[in-house]
Amino acid sequence: MRAAAPASLPAPAPAGAAATLGIIPKPWKVEVLPGSFVFSRDTVLVLEDNWAETAPVAAYLAENLSWSPGVKPKITEARTSPAGGSAIRLTLKAQNPELGEEGYALRVSPAEVRLEANAAAGLFYGVQTLRQVLRLEPEGTPSLPCLNVTDRPRFGWRGMLLDCSRHFMSKEFIKRSIDLLAVHKMNRFHWHLTDDQGWRVEIKKYPLLTEIGAWRSDDAGIRYGGFYTQDDIREVVSYARSRFVTVIPEIEMPGHSVAALASYPELSCTGGPFEVQTMWGVHKDVLCAGSDGTFAFLENVLSEVIELFPSPYVHIGGDEVPKDRWKACFRCQARIRAEGLKGENELQSYFIRRVEKFLNSKGRRLIGWDEILEGGLAPDATVQSWRGFDGALAAARSGHDTIVSPVSHAYFDFDLRRLDLRQVYTFEPVPIGLSADEARHVLGGECNIWTEYAPQDAIDGKMFPRILAMAECLWTPARDRDFSDFRRRLGAHTPRLEARGVRFGEEARPLTIFPSLDLASGRLTVAVRSSEPGLDIRTTLDGSRPSLQSLSYRGPVEIKDTCRLKAAAFLEGRPYGQVEEREFVGHHGRGGRITLSPSFSRRYPSAGLHSLADGVRGSLDHRDGAWQGFEGSDLEITLNLGRLQTVRRLACGFLQHASIAVFIPDQVEFFVSTDSRTFSHAGTVWPRVPRKISDRVMRDIAVDLEAVEIRYIRVRARNAGPCPAGHPLVGEKTWIFADEVIVD
Ligand SMILES: [Zn+2]
Repeated sequence: MRAAAPASLPAPAPAGAAATLGIIPKPWKVEVLPGSFVFSRDTVLVLEDNWAETAPVAAYLAENLSWSPGVKPKITEARTSPAGGSAIRLTLKAQNPELGEEGYALRVSPAEVRLEANAAAGLFYGVQTLRQVLRLEPEGTPSLPCLNVTDRPRFGWRGMLLDCSRHFMSKEFIKRSIDLLAVHKMNRFHWHLTDDQGWRVEIKKYPLLTEIGAWRSDDAGIRYGGFYTQDDIREVVSYARSRFVTVIPEIEMPGHSVAALASYPELSCTGGPFEVQTMWGVHKDVLCAGSDGTFAFLENVLSEVIELFPSPYVHIGGDEVPKDRWKACFRCQARIRAEGLKGENELQSYFIRRVEKFLNSKGRRLIGWDEILEGGLAPDATVQSWRGFDGALAAARSGHDTIVSPVSHAYFDFDLRRLDLRQVYTFEPVPIGLSADEARHVLGGECNIWTEYAPQDAIDGKMFPRILAMAECLWTPARDRDFSDFRRRLGAHTPRLEARGVRFGEEARPLTIFPSLDLASGRLTVAVRSSEPGLDIRTTLDGSRPSLQSLSYRGPVEIKDTCRLKAAAFLEGRPYGQVEEREFVGHHGRGGRITLSPSFSRRYPSAGLHSLADGVRGSLDHRDGAWQGFEGSDLEITLNLGRLQTVRRLACGFLQHASIAVFIPDQVEFFVSTDSRTFSHAGTVWPRVPRKISDRVMRDIAVDLEAVEIRYIRVRARNAGPCPAGHPLVGEKTWIFADEVIVD
């Protein structure tokens, strides 16, 4: 039964045959051989040695392979297993120093499968490879192609950060995410547990951290939050350990700590009070560095954290610390004098060193974001470089370890326009300019999923397929990486993951929609441009998703009426990349002449002077090119229709994106005129859209008229005034964003 069935005889292994096996990340060495190992009822998993360490991996293998009915392998020890039967043999005596702690050697022959490693993690990764190459014979029997794989990772630190402060994720979801990392041979889960918007870890000594700090309420009265009990944490850590993933907790300090300050305001410079933040951004209120109470608090918190997380490393954040409060705080200033520090940067450095000393005394090591380099680095700190590669360079050159996760390649919260699959795949964690000796300090890399705009439901789409590219960047030797080959393997890999319920996002945004209004004729045309050659572009105007049966795009399309244009790309007959869409509105004012007071900001010009009458609507993305931005003042828009027209309704579209200080105006007044000299009042609206909500909102503010004949329309929008208290940009100017004056 273990002889290869005729139907499964593989084609001779050509060059690049490894690609057809679809293994991600690509192994170090793969040799595909003729024949296959076909499972039978009698197939057993044989533990050659080290029962205690190999048995859990064997049990995992038995549980996870998709056996056909009736095939249920028993786990046996070598001494009780008769030689010569159909067997998968696991051994931890690889006696191959090349494999290190995480490498493995996998040999599949028609007679048996042999998986060797030096340590259990290696066996586990061998099992992942085995799962990926498993296939079904025509009659439904599982089999493995004959092959030799010798594999080991390039980097020991292969991680992903998940921000569970901005959005809370369930314990089950965290475990699922960890599993999905492990099957791609990733081994670090960086758990961002505290921030301005929520404290998510139970600390017995400070119950208010979760009674108060885990919850936030916006002006609309919606309460949001959650936290992990210490039992939850232990469950997650233990689950991760069974998958050879180390969980690194991140407890943010001294910045990004408003949730802690809301719970214990005495930890701040000002004494508060504070509210758990509902707005994204960098908040000025931070932990007071002058108060010994702050350090006592942190030591107590970290003591409990250390008990929960066996990780040798604890991440303490250290990023984005505005110095405003420290400058004005007599205790912080007293600390600067007493310690002989040169200003607030050195005070931050003092803060981190003091915390590091504590962690070291407990046998743990500190990781911080690259800002911890400012003012002098703590002696043993590991630097996580996010603002590019410079932090990693500086750290490695000064003999410090570094983890590389630059915004350019590793920020999976970014839109695909900024970071698509191909860009992730070009990630090279070792910065240019390091000597071989210095490069040893590069432990590896991480991708970061910040969740300001990504609740749990959106995480899969951010993570996949980009995490597969990241896994390969961190595992596979740089010289063996090839994007086309990777994409081919991805094609084989995707259905396997989708079958497990993974909801893939797109890999790129190759298309851009370019509307343009011809002022002379009033004609609005739309072009669809592609950043990649050879794509088959299809469009629809009824809002439906384009298919291969939809209209083939051949050139600019004229838009006459209100519609929603969607454009999709196809590559080799399959959908490729994100579907783009844009909404258009047909109305009496389209093509009219606009006068603005004041003029729009050069940062957000949209299509220029007349774009508030071009028929192009904005989306929730304030940078989509349809929004015109006006900074810090009231706005007056005058629209000249060119001739008298009968008008029944006036509207103006506005955007609110509170985190970046874009607010829907307090008040919007409409006026009409026949001659542009005398305007009569047509209505006033007070939109009253709650100001503290973190979400983005679009709103058409409108008034109805009694069929009047007019030629001129004037809209006066009152700016919402400076950013309110509690906003990270408190006191600063706010914006009005408008997309269209609509005349019906
Ligand atoms: Zn202070």
